[in-house]
Amino acid sequence: MTDCIFCKIISKTIPADIVFENDNMLAFKDIHPQYPVHLLLIPKIHIKSLEEVSAQNANLIQEMLLTLPKIAKENGLLEGFRTVLNTGAGGGQEVDHIHFHLIGDVRHKIK
Ligand code: 5GP
Ligand code: ZN
Repeated sequence: MTDCIFCKIISKTIPADIVFENDNMLAFKDIHPQYPVHLLLIPKIHIKSLEEVSAQNANLIQEMLLTLPKIAKENGLLEGFRTVLNTGAGGGQEVDHIHFHLIGDVRHKIK
């Protein structure tokens, strides 16, 4: 049994407010939103961080990048959005399952 919190969200062992899902990835609302829209996009396989991305799994990261604009628009971010990818403790990564933060404000520009 994994103790990765995001793997538990993927297996639906713990609940999350899911906004997008396909065979390879999942997007859900951050439990402590820092912006009016604050989503997390994760791959369904456990990749620890950008340090563990390789030629073997880079296609998944590519698919995530290509899907981010669609998820942003579906969640009301029609004028653009910000993506953040923290890597390692020094980069502020707290959950060791790679994730893009997708953040924005449907009313105002991010300051
Ligand atoms: P990091 O600092 O690793 O880049 O970001 C981890 C993010 O995951 C944080 O913004 C935090 O609020 C979010 N988070 C941590 N645990 C959970 C959880 O159980 N559910 C959800 N929805 N978000 C979580
Ligand atoms: Zn995981």
